[in-house]
This record gives sequence, C-alpha cells and structure tokens, in this order.
Amino acid sequence: ITVNVCVDTGCAALGAVRIFEQFKSELDKRKLNNKIELKPTGCPGFCQRGPLVVINPQDIFYQQVAPEDVNDIIDQTLLQYNILGRLLYPDPRTDKRYIYSSEVPFYAKQKRLVMADNGIIDPNSMEDYLKRGGYEALARVLSKMGPEEVIDEVEKAGLRGRGGAGFPTGTKWRFCRQSPGEEKYLICNADEGDPGAFMDRTLLEGNPHLVLEGMIIGGYAMGSQEGYVYVRAEYPTAIRHLETALAQCRDLGLLGEDILGSGFDFNISLKVGAGAFVCGEETALMRSIEGERGMPRLRPPFPAQSGLWGKPTNINNVETWANVRQIIVNGWETFHSIGNESSKGTKIFSLTGRINNTGLVEVPMGITLREVINDIGGGIPKGRKFKAAQMGGPAGGCIPARFQDLPIDYESLKSVGSMMGSGGMIILDENTCMVDLAKFFLTFTQSESCGECFPCRLGTKQMLSILTRITSGQGKPGDIETLLEIGETVRDSSLCGLGQGCANPVLSTIKYFREEYETHIKELK
Ligand code: SF4
Repeated sequence: ITVNVCVDTGCAALGAVRIFEQFKSELDKRKLNNKIELKPTGCPGFCQRGPLVVINPQDIFYQQVAPEDVNDIIDQTLLQYNILGRLLYPDPRTDKRYIYSSEVPFYAKQKRLVMADNGIIDPNSMEDYLKRGGYEALARVLSKMGPEEVIDEVEKAGLRGRGGAGFPTGTKWRFCRQSPGEEKYLICNADEGDPGAFMDRTLLEGNPHLVLEGMIIGGYAMGSQEGYVYVRAEYPTAIRHLETALAQCRDLGLLGEDILGSGFDFNISLKVGAGAFVCGEETALMRSIEGERGMPRLRPPFPAQSGLWGKPTNINNVETWANVRQIIVNGWETFHSIGNESSKGTKIFSLTGRINNTGLVEVPMGITLREVINDIGGGIPKGRKFKAAQMGGPAGGCIPARFQDLPIDYESLKSVGSMMGSGGMIILDENTCMVDLAKFFLTFTQSESCGECFPCRLGTKQMLSILTRITSGQGKPGDIETLLEIGETVRDSSLCGLGQGCANPVLSTIKYFREEYETHIKELK
C-alpha cells in the first residue's frame, strides 16, 4: 500500500508538507512503515481541493486533508485495507471525505497521458520512474531506430508545439537535423511566465525525467550533442527536482558519452532565468543563455539555421518534450488517433478564474469549452453565468460564451481571435468587467516590454494610458477607434511575439464586448 501525498508547490502552500510529516511520524510510531510506503509526489491536478492524498493501489482520493485527519485516514482506510489481513470498516464511500479518484467528476472527461504519472511517482526517485516504464523509449530509440525514423514517427503522430504557435514538431526537428554543421543545440523552454499558467512547473516538479527523456530522444534524432533547460528562477522546486534528475541520469549513463553503449554523446545543462517575461521568446532566451541581456532579434535566420552561438538550434517547450516518450512507446498511430482533424493528442490547461474546480486539466484536443467549464470545472460559482474565457495568456484573446461549443484546437481558437498559447485558461463570469481585464493584461505586457522596438515600447504605453483613462471615467469619444488603430499597428509591426500578441486582449474585448467600453466612456463621465 502506498500513501501518496502531493507536495507540489500548490499543495505545499496549503500545508501538505506538515501532512507528509504527520503521516511519517504516525506510521513510524505505529510501526507500520515497513508495510505502508509513504511517498511525496507531484500534482495530480485538482489544486482547488488540496492538500491531496491518494492511497494506492485502491485509488482512494482524500481532498482538503488537514494534519488532524491523518490518524483517521490510517484507522479508517489503511488499516481497513488488508495490511492486517482484515477489513475493519465498511465501504469507504460512506465516508464523505473520500472517494475513489475514478469517481471524481473533475477527472471524468480528462485524458491524462502526459500527466499520467504525476501524483503517482516520487519525482526525485529514478527507481519510481523506471518502474513506470521510464527510459524504455530511449532504450528502444537507441537500439532499434535511426534518427530519421524517430523524426518520421514524431511527424506522423502529428505532434505540434505546445508552447504557442503550434508548429509541427517533427518538421521543426527535421529542419534542425538537416541544417549544415556538426554542432547543434536543443533547448527546453521552461520560462513559463503567463499569468495564471502553471503547466510547465507542474510537469517539472512532478515528473522531470519525462521531459529529460524527450530531450535525449530529440538530441539523438537531430544529431545534437548538447541541450539546455531554460527554467525561470521563480520555480525553485522545479529547479531542485531537475538538478536531482540530471545527476541521476549522469550516474546511470543516460547522459554523457556513449549513452547506453550506443555511441551517442549528449549532455543537458540547466540555465536559470532572471525573471524577464520576454526571455520566454526563443531568440531572447538564446541570448540569455549566451550570457547577454535577453532581448529578441529579427528572424530570419530562424534558430534551426542559426540559433545558440550561431549554430542550428531547436527549441520546444516543456509539454512538447513530455509528449515524445508516449509517441515512441505507443506508436504514432495511437497518438494520432487522439484529438481531431487538425490537432492531435492531448493538451494541458491551467484552469483558473471564476470556476468551481481550478487546477491542471489534461484533455483530448477537440473537446469543447463547454465540457471543460461544466463537466470538468464544475461550472461557475454561485450560479452566475459564464461570460468568456481568456485563453493563451497575455498574447491570447477572449472567447465569448456564444463560442463555448467551439472545439479546442489550434485553428478553431485562432478563428475567433484567440490562441492555444501554452495553455492558460482563465474563466470569467458575468460580473467581470472586460475593460478591466484588458487593462490587467496590458499592464503586464507593458511592464514586460523590453523596449527594443518602438511599436511595442510606445504602443503599449499609449494603449495603457487610454485604458487607464477609460476605466477612471476620463474616456473620450474616439478612444475606442484609437485603441484599435494602435493595437493593430503594434500587432503588425512589433519585432517579437510579446509585441505582436500584446494587443490581442484589447482587440478581442473590443470586438466582442465593445458596449462595455462605450458604457465606461458614457457612464463614468
Ligand atoms: Fe521588445 Fe516588445 Fe519589441 Fe518584443 S515587441 S522586442 S518585447 S519591444
């Protein structure tokens, strides 16, 4: 029997470390520690109900656990289940504090493939990862597949980048492989900076080897010798777990020279960012790794031709790398069979805002917003009406309620002025002021603009000053038209994705909620 206590940052903030310690001391005191394994794990996703404790193999799910519940859990569940060879209590479902994970509605419509082991393995235990089939994909690739074959597999699977634009991953890998030169780099972009997004942090905290295995396979496929994980400094637990995982890989010969006797040499280093949002943009990120100030540069040349230190470089985000293992293990056909016509596999979203169940959800591509909000998210609190969802972070756009039956895929989101982005999904109810929302995001992007190009540097300031004027009752006729004009100019002429996307929250809220801007300008005078 295993007691899994989530000690991910979310549950830790709710006191999970004390709960873990309480279990440890009680199990020691009762001399049960040789019969029951106590395990610190990453996040099973249902952050709203943390701290979470899951008892396996029975899959019994405890939510909102407090230290004083620990004795009850030991008495009513652990002792009930056969460790003393007898049942002491009736069906655990009669106790309202716990339920089987499989019966929690939050999980019913999810398809947890990338996050399958989050909440089950101890992220600091290589043994745990290996027990769940870890590094079998790497062993298969190195012993049975040529690099081109690996790229074909990823291409046929239909995996697209999970960090923003959704570029086909296999094609990107092929560009890098075919770029002339012996020296090539690959990068894992873990500089997750969107407000409300925590997909990458959760994967790195809960299952760092999954990401590293994807990177080593990618390194082999692209003919690279060196990789970097660029992780933001605000993720200390993820950094710690990555450091441990990298050391374990080196000890086992999964990194370094002649990996698993294949003749393939590959290393991965960690680079900790310094807190600039723009360093999530790939050219700025590379400059930061090179030791310069992280500022974007013009493309072309693209990183696949000339990236880190002028060498061919491939950048994928955390979730993209974490998808690679399952494609190799299950075959491209299995991955390709999930999702819809244009978008394959699953996507992880951080579901936040005005929604009953917040947390990390992994759903098949093509699921509708309505299903995510109602069936997984449990609807809007206090019976209020769903108004819109802000998707794709500060560069994304809002999707009004009338599009809630739209399938969630790259093209459908784009068609309504939003984007997949890295997976932020902020739910807004009828009481949300959409002008305030646009101002919130623009305040963020304005302060994060690096100032290198003038459309973004000046345009964000001007838009923000107009929004501030409107929301403080000083709005003037013509302000909406000016916002549209500046927003479109900034979108069309900025150097990097930050500037190109920063006007989207303004443009999409004007498009769908223009009357709120007009009301502000009229009423607050
Ligand atoms: Fe910097 Fe903004 Fe220009 Fe990007 S668009 S380079 S963030 S000023």
